[in-house]
Amino acid sequence: MNDFAYAVASEGNHAVELAAAGGATFVAGGTELLNWLRLGIAAPERVVDIGRIAALRGIREDGDTLWIGALTTLSEVEANALVRDKAPALAEACARAASPQIRNRATLGGNLLQKTRCAYFRVEEPMPWPCNKRKAGSGCAAMDGHHERHAIFGWTTECAATQPSDPAVVLACLDAEIHVVGPQGRRTISAADFHLSQDEAGNAQRETRLAPGELISGYLVRGSAARRSAYVKVRERESYEYAMVSAAAALVVERNVIRHARIALGSVAQKPWRLARTEAELVGKSLQRNALLDAVRMSMAEARPLACNEFKVRLATNAAVRAIEAAGRMQ
Ligand code: SF4
Repeated sequence: MNDFAYAVASEGNHAVELAAAGGATFVAGGTELLNWLRLGIAAPERVVDIGRIAALRGIREDGDTLWIGALTTLSEVEANALVRDKAPALAEACARAASPQIRNRATLGGNLLQKTRCAYFRVEEPMPWPCNKRKAGSGCAAMDGHHERHAIFGWTTECAATQPSDPAVVLACLDAEIHVVGPQGRRTISAADFHLSQDEAGNAQRETRLAPGELISGYLVRGSAARRSAYVKVRERESYEYAMVSAAAALVVERNVIRHARIALGSVAQKPWRLARTEAELVGKSLQRNALLDAVRMSMAEARPLACNEFKVRLATNAAVRAIEAAGRMQ
Protein backbone atom coordinates (compact mmCIF):
# COMPACT_ATOMS: atom_id res chain seq x y z
CA MET A 1 0.00 0.00 0.00
CA ASN A 2 1.31 3.44 -0.95
CA ASP A 3 1.55 6.32 1.50
CA PHE A 4 -1.21 8.89 0.99
CA ALA A 5 -2.26 12.26 2.41
CA TYR A 6 -5.51 12.39 4.40
CA ALA A 7 -7.94 15.30 4.64
CA VAL A 8 -11.36 15.69 6.29
CA ALA A 9 -14.05 17.59 4.37
CA SER A 10 -16.61 19.74 6.18
CA GLU A 11 -19.14 19.86 3.33
CA GLY A 12 -19.61 18.78 -0.30
CA ASN A 13 -17.92 21.70 -2.04
CA HIS A 14 -15.04 21.53 0.43
CA ALA A 15 -14.58 17.84 -0.45
CA VAL A 16 -14.46 18.72 -4.16
CA GLU A 17 -11.86 21.46 -3.43
CA LEU A 18 -9.70 19.07 -1.41
CA ALA A 19 -9.78 16.58 -4.29
CA ALA A 20 -9.16 19.18 -7.00
CA ALA A 21 -5.40 18.64 -7.22
CA GLY A 22 -6.01 15.19 -8.75
CA GLY A 23 -4.86 11.77 -7.60
CA ALA A 24 -7.52 11.87 -4.86
CA THR A 25 -10.27 9.52 -3.83
CA PHE A 26 -13.20 9.96 -1.44
CA VAL A 27 -13.87 7.72 1.54
CA ALA A 28 -16.99 7.42 3.71
CA GLY A 29 -17.82 3.97 5.12
CA GLY A 30 -14.53 2.60 3.77
CA THR A 31 -15.88 -0.93 3.29
CA GLU A 32 -14.81 -1.02 -0.38
CA LEU A 33 -11.93 1.48 -0.59
CA LEU A 34 -9.87 -0.32 2.06
CA ASN A 35 -10.05 -3.50 -0.05
CA TRP A 36 -8.86 -1.57 -3.09
CA LEU A 37 -5.91 -0.11 -1.17
CA ARG A 38 -4.93 -3.50 0.22
CA LEU A 39 -5.07 -5.25 -3.16
CA GLY A 40 -3.49 -2.42 -5.15
CA ILE A 41 -6.69 -1.73 -7.13
CA ALA A 42 -6.38 1.91 -6.06
CA ALA A 43 -3.27 3.85 -5.05
CA PRO A 44 -4.46 7.43 -4.37
CA GLU A 45 -2.11 10.26 -3.43
CA ARG A 46 -4.81 11.77 -1.21
CA VAL A 47 -7.86 10.35 0.58
CA VAL A 48 -10.62 12.88 1.26
CA ASP A 49 -12.85 11.79 4.12
CA ILE A 50 -16.47 12.85 3.49
CA GLY A 51 -17.92 10.73 6.30
CA ARG A 52 -18.67 13.67 8.62
CA ILE A 53 -20.67 15.82 6.18
CA ALA A 54 -24.08 15.99 7.87
CA ALA A 55 -25.81 17.45 4.79
CA LEU A 56 -25.10 14.24 2.84
CA ARG A 57 -26.84 12.04 5.40
CA GLY A 58 -30.51 11.31 6.04
CA ILE A 59 -33.84 10.57 4.38
CA ARG A 60 -36.71 12.99 3.85
CA GLU A 61 -39.89 13.20 1.79
CA ASP A 62 -41.31 16.08 -0.19
CA GLY A 63 -44.70 15.29 -1.71
CA ASP A 64 -44.28 12.10 -3.69
CA THR A 65 -40.48 12.38 -3.79
CA LEU A 66 -37.99 10.76 -1.49
CA TRP A 67 -34.51 12.16 -0.93
CA ILE A 68 -31.78 9.86 0.39
CA GLY A 69 -28.40 11.36 1.22
CA ALA A 70 -25.36 9.52 -0.11
CA LEU A 71 -23.92 8.93 3.37
CA THR A 72 -27.04 7.16 4.63
CA THR A 73 -26.03 3.62 5.53
CA LEU A 74 -27.66 0.55 4.00
CA SER A 75 -29.03 -0.35 7.46
CA GLU A 76 -30.63 3.07 7.81
CA VAL A 77 -32.25 2.81 4.36
CA GLU A 78 -33.46 -0.73 5.06
CA ALA A 79 -35.10 0.25 8.37
CA ASN A 80 -36.55 3.61 7.34
CA ALA A 81 -40.37 3.77 7.41
CA LEU A 82 -40.56 6.26 4.53
CA VAL A 83 -38.46 4.05 2.25
CA ARG A 84 -40.40 0.93 3.23
CA ASP A 85 -43.64 2.74 2.35
CA LYS A 86 -42.62 4.72 -0.75
CA ALA A 87 -39.99 2.42 -2.30
CA PRO A 88 -40.19 -1.02 -0.65
CA ALA A 89 -37.92 -2.60 -3.27
CA LEU A 90 -35.10 -0.27 -2.24
CA ALA A 91 -35.47 -1.23 1.43
CA GLU A 92 -35.44 -4.89 0.40
CA ALA A 93 -32.33 -4.48 -1.78
CA CYS A 94 -30.44 -2.81 1.07
CA ALA A 95 -31.58 -5.51 3.51
CA ARG A 96 -30.24 -8.20 1.20
CA ALA A 97 -26.89 -6.54 0.50
CA ALA A 98 -23.86 -7.87 2.37
CA SER A 99 -23.73 -8.86 6.06
CA PRO A 100 -25.33 -6.82 8.89
CA GLN A 101 -21.91 -5.57 10.00
CA ILE A 102 -21.14 -4.23 6.52
CA ARG A 103 -24.62 -2.74 6.12
CA ASN A 104 -24.13 -0.78 9.35
CA ARG A 105 -21.05 0.85 7.88
CA ALA A 106 -21.52 0.92 4.09
CA THR A 107 -23.22 3.95 2.55
CA LEU A 108 -25.71 4.07 -0.29
CA GLY A 109 -23.32 6.42 -2.11
CA GLY A 110 -20.40 4.03 -1.92
CA ASN A 111 -22.49 0.96 -2.69
CA LEU A 112 -23.12 2.03 -6.29
CA LEU A 113 -19.39 2.64 -6.79
CA GLN A 114 -18.24 -0.80 -5.72
CA LYS A 115 -16.29 -2.77 -8.28
CA THR A 116 -16.89 -6.19 -9.77
CA ARG A 117 -16.46 -9.37 -7.77
CA CYS A 118 -14.69 -11.08 -10.73
CA ALA A 119 -12.17 -13.35 -8.98
CA TYR A 120 -9.46 -12.52 -11.51
CA PHE A 121 -9.84 -8.82 -10.68
CA ARG A 122 -9.78 -9.09 -6.86
CA VAL A 123 -6.21 -10.29 -6.33
CA GLU A 124 -3.16 -8.70 -4.80
CA GLU A 125 -0.38 -7.16 -6.87
CA PRO A 126 1.62 -8.42 -8.71
CA MET A 127 -1.17 -9.74 -10.93
CA PRO A 128 -0.74 -13.49 -11.60
CA TRP A 129 -2.95 -13.40 -14.72
CA PRO A 130 -4.23 -10.92 -17.31
CA CYS A 131 -7.08 -8.56 -16.44
CA ASN A 132 -7.89 -5.57 -18.65
CA LYS A 133 -9.72 -3.88 -15.80
CA ARG A 134 -6.60 -3.90 -13.64
CA LYS A 135 -4.07 -3.38 -16.44
CA ALA A 136 -5.29 -2.09 -19.79
CA GLY A 137 -4.29 -4.28 -22.71
CA SER A 138 -3.20 -7.25 -20.60
CA GLY A 139 -6.12 -9.50 -21.62
CA CYS A 140 -9.04 -11.14 -19.83
CA ALA A 141 -8.43 -14.34 -17.88
CA ALA A 142 -12.17 -14.90 -17.48
CA MET A 143 -12.83 -15.39 -21.19
CA ASP A 144 -11.21 -18.83 -21.20
CA GLY A 145 -11.50 -19.34 -17.45
CA HIS A 146 -14.27 -19.20 -14.86
CA HIS A 147 -17.03 -16.89 -16.04
CA GLU A 148 -20.14 -18.56 -14.66
CA ARG A 149 -21.06 -15.39 -12.73
CA HIS A 150 -20.22 -12.99 -15.54
CA ALA A 151 -22.30 -10.89 -17.92
CA ILE A 152 -24.91 -12.04 -20.40
CA PHE A 153 -25.63 -8.54 -21.74
CA GLY A 154 -23.44 -5.67 -22.94
CA TRP A 155 -20.05 -7.37 -22.51
CA THR A 156 -17.08 -7.32 -24.88
CA THR A 157 -14.19 -9.72 -25.34
CA GLU A 158 -12.13 -7.20 -23.36
CA CYS A 159 -14.19 -7.68 -20.18
CA ALA A 160 -17.41 -9.41 -19.11
CA ALA A 161 -17.50 -8.36 -15.46
CA THR A 162 -20.80 -7.51 -13.76
CA GLN A 163 -21.72 -4.71 -11.35
CA PRO A 164 -22.71 -6.36 -8.03
CA SER A 165 -24.69 -3.55 -6.30
CA ASP A 166 -28.21 -4.53 -5.17
CA PRO A 167 -29.58 -0.97 -4.59
CA ALA A 168 -28.31 0.10 -8.03
CA VAL A 169 -30.77 -2.32 -9.65
CA VAL A 170 -33.74 -0.84 -7.80
CA LEU A 171 -32.67 2.77 -8.36
CA ALA A 172 -32.35 2.08 -12.11
CA CYS A 173 -35.75 0.37 -12.12
CA LEU A 174 -37.34 3.36 -10.36
CA ASP A 175 -35.74 5.90 -12.73
CA ALA A 176 -34.19 7.58 -9.70
CA GLU A 177 -32.00 10.66 -10.11
CA ILE A 178 -28.43 10.53 -8.87
CA HIS A 179 -27.27 13.97 -7.71
CA VAL A 180 -23.56 14.68 -7.97
CA VAL A 181 -21.30 17.60 -7.09
CA GLY A 182 -17.95 18.19 -8.74
CA PRO A 183 -15.46 20.72 -10.10
CA GLN A 184 -18.02 21.89 -12.70
CA GLY A 185 -20.82 22.30 -10.13
CA ARG A 186 -23.90 20.17 -9.52
CA ARG A 187 -25.73 17.92 -11.96
CA THR A 188 -28.04 14.90 -12.02
CA ILE A 189 -27.60 11.59 -13.78
CA SER A 190 -30.39 9.08 -14.34
CA ALA A 191 -29.75 5.95 -12.28
CA ALA A 192 -30.64 3.89 -15.36
CA ASP A 193 -27.71 5.51 -17.21
CA PHE A 194 -25.25 5.92 -14.35
CA HIS A 195 -23.35 2.67 -14.91
CA LEU A 196 -21.91 1.73 -18.29
CA SER A 197 -21.81 -1.67 -19.94
CA GLN A 198 -18.47 -2.51 -21.52
CA ASP A 199 -19.82 -1.88 -25.03
CA GLU A 200 -20.99 1.60 -23.93
CA ALA A 201 -17.80 2.42 -22.03
CA GLY A 202 -15.47 1.45 -24.87
CA ASN A 203 -12.85 0.06 -22.49
CA ALA A 204 -12.69 -2.26 -19.49
CA GLN A 205 -11.84 0.38 -16.90
CA ARG A 206 -14.57 3.00 -17.25
CA GLU A 207 -17.68 1.90 -15.33
CA THR A 208 -19.82 4.98 -14.59
CA ARG A 209 -20.65 8.43 -15.95
CA LEU A 210 -19.02 10.15 -12.95
CA ALA A 211 -16.34 12.60 -14.09
CA PRO A 212 -13.01 12.92 -12.25
CA GLY A 213 -13.42 14.72 -8.92
CA GLU A 214 -17.22 14.25 -8.81
CA LEU A 215 -18.96 12.83 -5.80
CA ILE A 216 -22.50 11.48 -5.28
CA SER A 217 -24.48 13.71 -2.92
CA GLY A 218 -27.78 11.80 -2.89
CA TYR A 219 -30.64 10.09 -4.67
CA LEU A 220 -34.11 11.32 -5.60
CA VAL A 221 -36.89 8.76 -6.04
CA ARG A 222 -40.26 9.95 -7.28
CA GLY A 223 -43.52 8.55 -8.60
CA SER A 224 -46.31 6.28 -7.53
CA ALA A 225 -44.82 3.17 -9.24
CA ALA A 226 -42.06 3.09 -6.61
CA ARG A 227 -44.67 2.33 -3.96
CA ARG A 228 -45.57 -0.90 -5.74
CA SER A 229 -42.07 -2.25 -6.23
CA ALA A 230 -40.31 -5.51 -5.37
CA TYR A 231 -36.77 -6.89 -5.43
CA VAL A 232 -35.82 -10.55 -5.87
CA LYS A 233 -32.24 -11.69 -5.24
CA VAL A 234 -31.01 -15.15 -6.24
CA ARG A 235 -27.79 -16.13 -4.47
CA GLU A 236 -25.89 -19.26 -3.52
CA ARG A 237 -26.41 -18.86 0.23
CA GLU A 238 -29.07 -16.94 2.07
CA SER A 239 -26.99 -15.48 4.95
CA TYR A 240 -24.99 -13.05 2.80
CA GLU A 241 -23.73 -13.33 -0.73
CA TYR A 242 -23.55 -11.35 -3.93
CA ALA A 243 -26.36 -12.03 -6.38
CA MET A 244 -26.05 -14.65 -9.06
CA VAL A 245 -28.89 -12.68 -10.65
CA SER A 246 -31.45 -10.26 -9.24
CA ALA A 247 -34.53 -8.45 -10.50
CA ALA A 248 -36.48 -5.33 -9.54
CA ALA A 249 -39.97 -4.47 -10.75
CA ALA A 250 -42.21 -1.43 -10.24
CA LEU A 251 -45.79 -1.35 -11.45
CA VAL A 252 -48.86 0.79 -11.71
CA VAL A 253 -51.85 -1.58 -11.76
CA GLU A 254 -55.52 -0.64 -12.17
CA ARG A 255 -58.23 -3.27 -11.82
CA ASN A 256 -55.66 -6.02 -12.35
CA VAL A 257 -54.38 -4.43 -15.59
CA ILE A 258 -50.79 -3.20 -15.79
CA ARG A 259 -50.69 0.49 -16.77
CA HIS A 260 -46.98 1.12 -16.24
CA ALA A 261 -44.05 -1.27 -15.74
CA ARG A 262 -40.37 -0.84 -15.01
CA ILE A 263 -38.08 -3.87 -14.72
CA ALA A 264 -34.32 -4.13 -14.22
CA LEU A 265 -31.99 -7.09 -13.80
CA GLY A 266 -28.86 -7.17 -11.65
CA SER A 267 -25.59 -9.12 -11.98
CA VAL A 268 -26.21 -9.79 -15.68
CA ALA A 269 -24.15 -6.85 -17.00
CA GLN A 270 -21.82 -4.09 -15.84
CA LYS A 271 -24.96 -2.00 -15.31
CA PRO A 272 -28.47 -2.69 -14.09
CA TRP A 273 -30.12 -4.06 -17.23
CA ARG A 274 -33.53 -2.60 -18.01
CA LEU A 275 -35.95 -4.86 -19.89
CA ALA A 276 -37.38 -2.17 -22.19
CA ARG A 277 -39.24 -4.54 -24.53
CA THR A 278 -40.86 -6.28 -21.57
CA GLU A 279 -41.89 -2.96 -20.01
CA ALA A 280 -43.68 -1.93 -23.22
CA GLU A 281 -45.23 -5.35 -23.76
CA LEU A 282 -46.71 -5.53 -20.26
CA VAL A 283 -48.84 -2.37 -20.58
CA GLY A 284 -52.48 -3.43 -20.87
CA LYS A 285 -51.76 -7.00 -19.74
CA SER A 286 -53.05 -8.73 -16.63
CA LEU A 287 -50.77 -10.24 -14.01
CA GLN A 288 -51.30 -13.69 -15.46
CA ARG A 289 -48.06 -15.70 -15.18
CA ASN A 290 -47.83 -16.91 -18.78
CA ALA A 291 -48.28 -13.37 -20.08
CA LEU A 292 -45.50 -12.16 -17.78
CA LEU A 293 -43.21 -14.99 -18.87
CA ASP A 294 -43.78 -14.30 -22.57
CA ALA A 295 -43.06 -10.60 -22.06
CA VAL A 296 -39.85 -11.24 -20.12
CA ARG A 297 -38.66 -13.75 -22.70
CA MET A 298 -38.88 -11.07 -25.40
CA SER A 299 -36.10 -9.12 -23.69
CA MET A 300 -34.14 -12.19 -22.66
CA ALA A 301 -33.92 -13.28 -26.32
CA GLU A 302 -31.32 -10.51 -26.67
CA ALA A 303 -29.00 -12.10 -24.06
CA ARG A 304 -25.53 -13.20 -25.20
CA PRO A 305 -24.36 -15.72 -22.60
CA LEU A 306 -20.75 -16.86 -22.43
CA ALA A 307 -19.81 -20.54 -22.78
CA CYS A 308 -20.44 -21.37 -19.11
CA ASN A 309 -23.23 -19.04 -17.98
CA GLU A 310 -26.20 -19.80 -20.20
CA PHE A 311 -28.02 -20.91 -17.02
CA LYS A 312 -28.22 -17.23 -16.02
CA VAL A 313 -30.69 -16.56 -18.85
CA ARG A 314 -33.28 -18.86 -17.30
CA LEU A 315 -32.42 -17.78 -13.77
CA ALA A 316 -32.87 -14.10 -14.67
CA THR A 317 -36.10 -14.81 -16.58
CA ASN A 318 -37.62 -16.49 -13.53
CA ALA A 319 -36.34 -13.79 -11.16
CA ALA A 320 -37.93 -11.07 -13.32
CA VAL A 321 -41.29 -12.87 -13.39
CA ARG A 322 -41.16 -13.35 -9.60
CA ALA A 323 -40.36 -9.65 -9.08
CA ILE A 324 -43.27 -8.56 -11.30
CA GLU A 325 -45.64 -10.91 -9.49
CA ALA A 326 -44.43 -9.68 -6.10
CA ALA A 327 -44.90 -6.03 -7.14
CA GLY A 328 -48.34 -6.92 -8.48
CA ARG A 329 -49.41 -8.39 -5.13
CA MET A 330 -48.73 -5.08 -3.35
CA GLN A 331 -51.57 -2.68 -2.63
FE1 SF4 B 1 -10.65 -8.57 -15.58
FE2 SF4 B 1 -13.05 -8.04 -16.59
FE3 SF4 B 1 -11.73 -10.12 -17.48
FE4 SF4 B 1 -12.67 -10.13 -14.96
S1 SF4 B 1 -13.90 -10.11 -16.83
S2 SF4 B 1 -10.62 -10.80 -15.68
S3 SF4 B 1 -12.50 -7.96 -14.44
S4 SF4 B 1 -11.09 -7.98 -17.68
